[in-house]
Amino acid sequence: MPMNFETVEVTTDFLIVGGGMAACGAAVEAAYWGKQHGVKVTLVDKASMVRSGAVGMGLSAINQYIGVTKGTNTVEDYIKYVKYDLMGIARDDLVANIARHVDSSVHLFDKWGLPFWKDDEGGYVNEGRWQLMINGESYKVVVAEAAKNALGMDNIYERVFVIEPLLDGDRIAGCVGFSVRENKFYVFKAKAVLAAMGGAVGVFKPKSTGEGMGRSWYPPFSTGSSAYFTIKAGAEMTCQEVRFVPVRFKDAYGPVGAWFLLFKSRATNAMDEEYMATRRSELANWGKYGAVKPIPANLRNYLGMLDQFEGKGPLFMRTDEAIANLAKKYEGDEKAFKKKMKELEAEAWEDFLDMTIAQALLWAATNVEPEKGSSEIAATEPYFIGSHSGASGAWVSGPEDLAGGTDYFWGYANMTTIKGLFAAGDASGASSHKFSSGSHAEGRIAAKAAIKFILDNNTQPNVDAAVVEALKAETYKPLEIFEANKGYTTTPEVNPNYILPKMFMFRLQKLMDEYVGGFSSNFSTNTKSLNRAMELLTFLQEDSDKLAARDLHELMRVWENKHRIMQAESHVRTVLFREETRWPGYYFRADYPKIDEENWLCFVNTKYDPQTKEWSVFKKPVLNLFNVD
Ligand code: FAD
Repeated sequence: MPMNFETVEVTTDFLIVGGGMAACGAAVEAAYWGKQHGVKVTLVDKASMVRSGAVGMGLSAINQYIGVTKGTNTVEDYIKYVKYDLMGIARDDLVANIARHVDSSVHLFDKWGLPFWKDDEGGYVNEGRWQLMINGESYKVVVAEAAKNALGMDNIYERVFVIEPLLDGDRIAGCVGFSVRENKFYVFKAKAVLAAMGGAVGVFKPKSTGEGMGRSWYPPFSTGSSAYFTIKAGAEMTCQEVRFVPVRFKDAYGPVGAWFLLFKSRATNAMDEEYMATRRSELANWGKYGAVKPIPANLRNYLGMLDQFEGKGPLFMRTDEAIANLAKKYEGDEKAFKKKMKELEAEAWEDFLDMTIAQALLWAATNVEPEKGSSEIAATEPYFIGSHSGASGAWVSGPEDLAGGTDYFWGYANMTTIKGLFAAGDASGASSHKFSSGSHAEGRIAAKAAIKFILDNNTQPNVDAAVVEALKAETYKPLEIFEANKGYTTTPEVNPNYILPKMFMFRLQKLMDEYVGGFSSNFSTNTKSLNRAMELLTFLQEDSDKLAARDLHELMRVWENKHRIMQAESHVRTVLFREETRWPGYYFRADYPKIDEENWLCFVNTKYDPQTKEWSVFKKPVLNLFNVD
């Protein structure tokens, strides 16, 4: 591998980092305001925008639609839903700001040609209260096309992996990254930057093994870069302990939303007991959160897990029963009954084909006929996804008109505590349940605020050339380490002088799984375990200096793991700090097994000092701005 890498410098005003839902929303909005004010907008994505990010494979439902103008729901309704689902831990101002803008993002998707299910009157078809059904295999293609048209391809850099932020004192100045296809090192200089690089997969050991190991619920694209970027910039972070453990169809991780909400299916254990009924009394242990409808996702998980811990697994989605119930009213009219059964069967398969093709393949490969038998469901491994039912991300300013005091507002909506650095989607915390549509809307909110920031602070920050050179050397060091040491052993996978990223990832995943409450430790942990995890993480951090790469693709894997470990460390530190169990179906603190509203109804925030490399972990208040309690 030649070691000469060209440096490409890109100077812009507003840099959008990531090409997913939040980034695409930001691109459309920034292009609109940017054109009016002569502001140059640039976007950089690690992959190809039309299929990058969590929506890359498609989705079968848009999970956040309020229906404000029709009066279907109110913004307050949504805040209440989010806050209770997260056991009290959410920012009212951020959730409200997204909720009041999300419908317009959905209307844009409709206008751009995304096929929605429509009823006889032309209205949207709901899956549940907030979810709209779509034929969404090409959802991301439609959304990315609009973003590309808005910015123009000259302003878009694809297949460039962003590794580090650049700072000018207390202000963001850009970032550096490398092409995963060409020998090019990129230096982006910008007046404002939006971090929108999604959440993190692969921090915990996956249940899938062997060739199937890449199969997880969360797609493989995003590996903690948002968290790494904002933490390394010195931004305050929040909810780093709030991971997400979805319950999905077993092994291929197919979605369950349509089954529970649209098909009204039940879930039962191996003894045909419905754990949501037989375990109901357990809900009383989780305060007012156990008494609401819908029951918070983590508590639903927990009731199923309790059955599994007692050996009553596997758990089953009763697809056959649900389909039979829906077709019941057509019994007696053979033609209509057959037609309805065909329709339901088609919907069942399409749900997977729209967003998790592997599940349809697994069903086909294992002779599953959903109308004839049940299918296994199971809790997955943990993920970090602040836009879904997790909450981790940067601590960002709320909007001025919903200001909740200085803790929640400092000038520009969605700006982190670093001047000019914004965050949206999975990258911003404490505003769960924004999903694809809300992430798009939040990207638009952040972009509009970033353009305002640029107009108010219209100078190009300085970038220290020596810092850039040092980062370039560090970026490619793994290639040099491999070249210098590859002759030492006969098999490149094993070498005393370096570690390949795959082995490094295995070490990270093993320690997180065993000591921080992964699936093999029944999602349970305690102080001693967490301290041991910190010790092992420190050794792993030391060994990260010896990471080696054989080519550019493996170099990307190196950097993915350097990013993951930062996400891991902030998680361990915050799980350790919060001395209670608040989300038992996501993780359980065995030494503090109860929820403690008096001491822990608060955010746990962190700050990393990039100079001293020291962390601080502290509490921030949960404010009740909309009286939704
Ligand atoms: P993403 O859309 O994931 O985009 C992240 C972007 O960052 C990608 O373009 C990626 O390539 C890029 N990136 C990552 N690292 C780097 C780097 N180092 N340098 C440069 N670029 C980088 N929502 C719904 O509305 N309905 C659903 O049914 C639904 N189902 C879901 C199912 C799954 C399995 C998952 C994971 C999510 C689901 N969601 C659903 C939620 C939705 O997908 C997310 O809320 C949304 O994609 C978050 O947007 P984002 O922009 O933050 O991240």
